[in-house]
Amino acid sequence: MSRILYIEDEFTNRLLIKRVLEAQGHVVFEAESGTSGLQMAQTCNPDLILMDINLPDIDGYECTARLRKMPDFNTLPIIALTANAMVGDADKALAAGCDGYISKPIDVDTLPRQVMNFINTRSSKGIPLRDSPLSGGAGRLPGRDRRTT
Ligand code: CA
Repeated sequence: MSRILYIEDEFTNRLLIKRVLEAQGHVVFEAESGTSGLQMAQTCNPDLILMDINLPDIDGYECTARLRKMPDFNTLPIIALTANAMVGDADKALAAGCDGYISKPIDVDTLPRQVMNFINTRSSKGIPLRDSPLSGGAGRLPGRDRRTT
């Protein structure tokens, strides 16, 4: 379970992505503009931000650049949502400080896995996972060993 902030001005996209990610157990926060996204980022303590590029006030590039200047957000995973047709958008998003990008239209079948990959990539860089598969090994003996016969 992760806390995900989704900055997106299109209501239908927010509705869809929120539903898909909540079905995976994530908590989704929404902001409908760049400025409200910046404010919400500082109050909702996200594990990852999904950043639409075309926003009505400040765009996703500028929003990402501003977040990167804040100590709390200089290593947070920020994923840009870029329009498929705009090839240069992905490069601009990475240059602005995004960790990666997902092309629109969003594929709801692969989105949850993409999101988890970005969160886990950060974990492997030094922040421990809360539930390491190695931590509970002693309790996972095969059932046959404990069966009384
Ligand atoms: Ca948009």
